[in-house]
Amino acid sequence: MNIVLFGPPGAGKGTQAAILVEQHNIVQLSTGDMLRAAVAAGTELGKQAKSVMDAGQLVADDLIIGIISDRIDEADCKNGFILDGFPRTVAQAEGLDAMLEEKGLKLDSTIEIVVDEQILFSRIEQRASETPEAERRADDNAETLKKRLAVYHEQTAPVLPYYEKKGNLHKVDGMQSIEEVASQIANFLK
Ligand code: AMP
Repeated sequence: MNIVLFGPPGAGKGTQAAILVEQHNIVQLSTGDMLRAAVAAGTELGKQAKSVMDAGQLVADDLIIGIISDRIDEADCKNGFILDGFPRTVAQAEGLDAMLEEKGLKLDSTIEIVVDEQILFSRIEQRASETPEAERRADDNAETLKKRLAVYHEQTAPVLPYYEKKGNLHKVDGMQSIEEVASQIANFLK
C-alpha cells in the first residue's frame, strides 16, 4: 500500500505515519528526516540543504525527486510506503507520478490532515521545549514556522487540487486526538 500524507508543518504527519508503519508493515519515507540525516552526516546533499532548511524554504525539486526515487527502489519498500513531507510542490507531484509509472507502482491513497494553524504554533513551541537543545530541530521555532507555513500555502497547498481532481484525496480533522485521527485514516484505507 502506497500512501501520501499531507498537512502543514506540525500537523502530526510523522505521528500518523508511525502508526501506519505498525499497522501495515510499510515504511515511512520522510524527506525532512532524510535531509536532516544528510545534514548531520555532512554529505554534499546535507551541505546544500542546510541553509535552505534553516530558512524554512524548500530544497530543489530535482534533488528531492531523485532521493525519493532511489529510496523507493530499496528492498524494504516492497510492501509499500508512506510519503511524509513529499510531494510539496506541483512539480514534485508530477515527478512522483512519472516515477511511479516508470516503476510500475501507483498511489493507493492521499490523505490531508487539516489543522488550525494558530494551534500549530503552540504545538511547535511545545515540541521545541520538550526536546533537549542538542536534539532540537533548527527550524522548530515560531519565526521559522511562520515562513514554513507561508511556503506551505504558496507551494504545497496547490498540490491538493492536483490530487482532488484524481478523486483520491481524503481529508481528516487533525485537531482530534491522535487515536481519532488514526482511526479515520484507517477507515479511508479499508
Ligand atoms: P519537514 O520535516 O517535512 O517539515 O521538512 C523540513 C525541511 O526540509 C523543510 O522545511 C524543507 O526545507 C525541507 N524539505 C523536506 N521535504 C521537502 C520536499 N519534499 N521538498 C523540498 N524541501 C523539503
